[in-house]
Amino acid sequence: MSRTNLAVKAPAAGETVGRMPAPKAPAPKALLAWYDRHRRDLPWRAKPGETSEPYKVWLSEIMLQQTRVETVARYYEVFLKKFPTVEKLAKAPLENVLKTWAGLGYYARARNLHACARVVAREHGGKFPGTEEGLRELPGIGGYTAAAIAAIAFGRKAAPMDGNIERVVARLFQVETPLPAAKPELQALAASLVPLKRAGDFAQAMMDLGATICTPRRPHCLTCPLNDLCRGLAAGDPELLPLRAPKAEKPRRTGIAWVAERTDGSVLLRTRPERGLLGGMTEVPSAGWDGRGDPGAAPLDLAWRRAGTITHVFTHFALELEVRHAATDSPVAPPGHRWVDAADLPSEALPTVMKKAIEAAIPGATRRRRPAE
Ligand code: SF4
Repeated sequence: MSRTNLAVKAPAAGETVGRMPAPKAPAPKALLAWYDRHRRDLPWRAKPGETSEPYKVWLSEIMLQQTRVETVARYYEVFLKKFPTVEKLAKAPLENVLKTWAGLGYYARARNLHACARVVAREHGGKFPGTEEGLRELPGIGGYTAAAIAAIAFGRKAAPMDGNIERVVARLFQVETPLPAAKPELQALAASLVPLKRAGDFAQAMMDLGATICTPRRPHCLTCPLNDLCRGLAAGDPELLPLRAPKAEKPRRTGIAWVAERTDGSVLLRTRPERGLLGGMTEVPSAGWDGRGDPGAAPLDLAWRRAGTITHVFTHFALELEVRHAATDSPVAPPGHRWVDAADLPSEALPTVMKKAIEAAIPGATRRRRPAE
């Protein structure tokens, strides 16, 4: 519950908050002035005076979901080079998209990205809808992404809310309702701040402020452009906000992964079904952890030895996978499986959990590359 009704009303310019001096400028003006001087230079971001391209904004926002900016920066350029337009992405086979995505994690995003590109190319003539409502109709675009694209690419008065922005707003307005119950309240407060003009810059300024100044620990309040109207700072300890309801522990699953290695260095792989967890990605045979297959059934009758145990945390569960390793000189692959040369492993769409499993059995295997011919 909020401590007071202060939480639902933005402090106006000139209003005194606690012991803080009156703000010099309303939040949007102060924040935009700060953004003009301190904005982060990101590869997908339009330079000052340039217009943002909806395709680039969409691509970066999907990549940034649950992934760090530094990681996305590495993948974004490669992805854009390979798929420079939404039409090119729509025409590409899903397998190529997944291969280029491999390593970014949360592969449902890549499948939705591809599905979304196809809808935009086929049903919208290659142009993204320009409203939050229209964007939300597209595969893989939720509330945050729709608001971010609408604001940044189309200048709509929209307020994207992610963890960083929730933190800024909770502190600015001293919202003491714990998350996630506070979400609607924080969304309404954020929306109350969005200016009519430069809504896209304002959204990006909030993102930058949350990422660089109003950090989870030790926020840099001294240099914050909003420090003269921040109720959390006025109350004394903004770092305590936002409050969070205690988290339920993730369920734990266990399973077995079999890494079969041929004497020529090839590894036995297969492709997961299109639908479901890690759909369409490559894996070593595994079972017992995703509801598919009998955990006791190895893909080949070999002398398996235990190579170790790896752990991996998915969105909805934590996995402990026992890795078994065996060598063979058989050229035969069981139905639905294939032998892949070790030098080709880096170009397979292997999710991180499967890379971990292979590395546990054959250290360095997923990083060997075929020498240039
Ligand atoms: S003054 Fe401090 S707590 Fe308040 S918004 Fe700025 S950095 Fe965050």
